[in-house]
Amino acid sequence: MDWQEIAVVGAGTMGAGITADLLFHGYKNIWLIDISLSQLERARKDIEHALRFYPLIAPNLAKVDANEALQQVSFTTQLNKIHRCDAVIENITEKVTVKQDLYQKMDEICKPDTCFIANTSCISITAIAAFTSRMDQVIGIHFMNPAALKSTVELIAGVHTNQDTIQKAERFLSELGKSFVSVGDFPGFVSNRISHLFMNEAAFAVQDRLAEPAQIDKIFRECFGHKLGPLETADLIGLDVVADSLDILFESYHDSKYRCCLLYTSPSPR
Ligand code: NAD
Repeated sequence: MDWQEIAVVGAGTMGAGITADLLFHGYKNIWLIDISLSQLERARKDIEHALRFYPLIAPNLAKVDANEALQQVSFTTQLNKIHRCDAVIENITEKVTVKQDLYQKMDEICKPDTCFIANTSCISITAIAAFTSRMDQVIGIHFMNPAALKSTVELIAGVHTNQDTIQKAERFLSELGKSFVSVGDFPGFVSNRISHLFMNEAAFAVQDRLAEPAQIDKIFRECFGHKLGPLETADLIGLDVVADSLDILFESYHDSKYRCCLLYTSPSPR
């Protein structure tokens, strides 16, 4: 393992899922960081749940003792604990200014050879790397949700990412038993540039009263053979994350096709 001590920053859906994945694959010395204590508490429960139940539905995952594995994770709100880490996997809120503030702080705290892995849905890796003085050691790994159950990720090198960082990221993914598809560094990469159009248009179809949400999902599952319909996918991701991602795609491409359907931002859609 190139990375003996790893920090996961952001303990929401993805941070908790990736921490569970690290534990399934024998990683030790993990820092899980969030600004919210209640999110850290929730993450502890989610990780424990994943460790206990995922091996029942995914036999490729090693059975681990949940209590023992959780001893390897330090849950904290103190970002400066990451100063010795070899790699940081960032999973915080999908807002450019929020990420900028964090990357600038991490750049000051971390040792010079720490790699930064951005698990962003839509923000360009080159743009994120520019918030640091180590643009060559920043790389994107777009994990899928739930991280431990998904076998493939998008791997995104920014314009300045060096070969050493790319190779370390590839070895890391192989240790997690994941394959990857290397894609270009444009906002949304491949998966979200396309899938968010589906999810957004499905919400517009609900708004226009073409069909009920369940009917739209049924068409995608039963006519197209998708595992989840577009609205179920949006629910799995989190409607706030979908809305943030659409806003980034809209701002990045200046293309009205990414204007976010208001149903994603209103608290009570129907
Ligand atoms: P989430 O809202 O569940 O979690 C985000 C967490 O970040 C929250 O717990 C929040 O308290 C924390 N946070 C915010 N600012 C912070 C800071 N400065 N320092 C530490 N913690 C901070 O979101 P999520 O769904 O886990 O998504 C996180 C990232 O992963 C986003 O960039 C998102 O686009 C990306 N992503 C999401 C999915 C998905 O399916 N949800 C899939 C792939 C990538």
